[in-house]
Amino acid sequence: MAEIEGQVRDEELDPEREARRQLALAQIRQYPDAALKMQARPVEEFDDELLGLAERMKRLMEDANGIGLAATQVGVLRRLFVFQPAEDEVAVVVNPEIVERSEETEVADEGCLSIQGVLVPVERATTITLAGRDEHGEEVRFELDDVYARAAQHESDHLDGILTIDRTTPEARREALAVLRPRIVLS
Ligand SMILES: [Zn+2]
Repeated sequence: MAEIEGQVRDEELDPEREARRQLALAQIRQYPDAALKMQARPVEEFDDELLGLAERMKRLMEDANGIGLAATQVGVLRRLFVFQPAEDEVAVVVNPEIVERSEETEVADEGCLSIQGVLVPVERATTITLAGRDEHGEEVRFELDDVYARAAQHESDHLDGILTIDRTTPEARREALAVLRPRIVLS
């Protein structure tokens, strides 16, 4: 049984599937890529280019074994993400807005496809209502809880250039940066 941690599903994969995951991750911007810190702009045109982008993001998310992926993570500064609103479902949400969030919150470890190998505790609302449009421009609305509410909040943050390490405790952030900094020097 896979454990879902923020944007990442933690499970053992067979070698072929693992190779596919690595290829997908190589196409996803990795911390400290500048695009990850940028604010995405609203989508105005629902055209073939948008459909192509949405398809590519869905494929990358699945290959990377994630449960969400935001456009900023593929270097596109537009407000859309793909995510799983429930098990075995995939949705594209364009110009997403969290229109309601519970006062009740929960802290859990969160991973990110752009910050590999780093898990930090993040406090999130336990239930939310997410509104936006699908890739064809039709209005969509999702009532989400648990890991799916967490994933949608994680993806929404990406569109504002906010990462898990910006939302965690000062100690966890310090520890995460200690892991990430040597990688930056080496790459
Ligand atoms: Zn992420």
